[in-house]
Amino acid sequence: MTDLTTRLIHHPYQPPEGFDAVMPPVHKASTVIFPNVAALRQRQWRDKTGYTYGLHGTPTTFILEERIATLEGGLQTLLVPSGLAAISLVNMALLRSGDEVLIPDNAYGPNKELARHELARWGITHRLYDPLDLRGLAGLITPATRLIWIEAAGSVTMEFPDVPALLALARERGLTTALDNTWGAGLAFNPFDVLGDGASGVDISVQALTKFPSGGGDILMGSVTTREFSLHHTLKLSHMRMGWGMGANDVELVLRSLPSMALRYDAQDASARALASWWAAQPEVVQLLHPAFASCPGHANWQALCTRAAGLFSVVLDARIEQVKMDAFLNGLKLFKLGYSWAGPVSLVVPYDLVTLRQRPSWSGTVVRFALGLESAADLIADCAQALPLLRA
Ligand SMILES: *Cc1c(COP(=O)(O)O)cnc(C)c1O
Repeated sequence: MTDLTTRLIHHPYQPPEGFDAVMPPVHKASTVIFPNVAALRQRQWRDKTGYTYGLHGTPTTFILEERIATLEGGLQTLLVPSGLAAISLVNMALLRSGDEVLIPDNAYGPNKELARHELARWGITHRLYDPLDLRGLAGLITPATRLIWIEAAGSVTMEFPDVPALLALARERGLTTALDNTWGAGLAFNPFDVLGDGASGVDISVQALTKFPSGGGDILMGSVTTREFSLHHTLKLSHMRMGWGMGANDVELVLRSLPSMALRYDAQDASARALASWWAAQPEVVQLLHPAFASCPGHANWQALCTRAAGLFSVVLDARIEQVKMDAFLNGLKLFKLGYSWAGPVSLVVPYDLVTLRQRPSWSGTVVRFALGLESAADLIADCAQALPLLRA
C-alpha cells in the first residue's frame, strides 16, 4: 500500500467493535469528561494520547489531521478555520517584533495584506521577492530575516520557482521555510522531499483545505503540516492559545471528499490543459500562464518537480482590449461563473488587474484566471468559444 491515492482511503483508524462503517464518525465536543481527578490532573494534549477539551482536538479532527499529514508527506498537522488562518498561525507562532519575513511577489494576495497591516502593527516587517530571482532574494536576507514564504506555482500569474534552490538558500542562511502548498495539494510534489532523494524539504507546508481536499466549494479550512516535532509543538501552543478549533461537521465533509481528491485533481488538470491549449491559439492572448506550458515563467522548474498540475491557469489579454469588451465577455460566459476560489465542481473565472496585483508586473493588460471545475472539457471550451466574439466586437 504505497500509492498515496490508496493511503488516503485505507488508514489505521480503528472503528468500534462490530461497527466497521466505511466513514469514521463525527465526534462533537466542547467538554470531554474525565473518569476521575487523577485523569484530569494528568491530562495530556501534547501528542494525541488523550483528549482534554474539544478545542484541542476530537477523534474526528485527529483523523483528518493524520490524513492531511499523510497527504503532505509530513508527520504532524494542525487544522485551522481557513487557508488564510493557516498562514496567520505560522506568522504568529514564529515571528516577533523586529523580525522580517520574505514573501514572493506572486503570493496569495491576502498573505501580503496580512503582512502589510497586522504584521506591520506588531513591528514585524516584510519584503516582497521576485520568485524567479534567487540572487535578488539572497540580497534581501538580513540578520532580521526569520521566515521565507514560498508558493509553487504562485497565485494568478503562476510563475513556478526553483523550489530546491530556494530551500538550499534558506538552509544555508538558517531561515525557516513555509510553503503555501494549496496548488500542489500534496499531489503535484512532496513538499518535505521535493526531489524525492530525502535531501530537500520545507519546514512547514500550509494548505487551504478549502480547495482540493474539500472540493465542494462549501467549506473553509486550512492545515499546517510539519515533520519536526519541536516546530509542530511551537505551532500547536500558539494554535491552542489562539483558540482556532474546527467544527466536526466541516471536518467530516473534508474526510468524505479526500478519497476522491486525486481523481478530481487529475480531471481538472486534464480539462485545464485542454482549455489552455485552446486559449493559446487565440490572437487576443499575449501570454498563457500555466506552469505545464513552456510560455509560463518557471516552466522548467515545474517540469523538474512535477508531472501533475492543478486545474487552473491565466491568460494575459492584449492591453488594447477595452474593459467594456472584457466585461461583456466575462458576463457572456455561461458555465464559467464569476467567483473566487477554485477546485470545486463549478468552473470559475476572475479578471485581475496586473498593476494592483504585483509590485513589478512583467506584463501590462488584464489577466483572466480560469479555474476548472468538473464539467466536461468540451463544454467548457465551447463556453469560451461562444463568448469570445464579445471580446472582439
Ligand atoms: C485560497 C487560498 C488560500 C486561502 O484559503 P481560504 O481558506 O480561502 O482562506 C491560501 N493560499 C492560496 C494559494 C489559496 O489559493
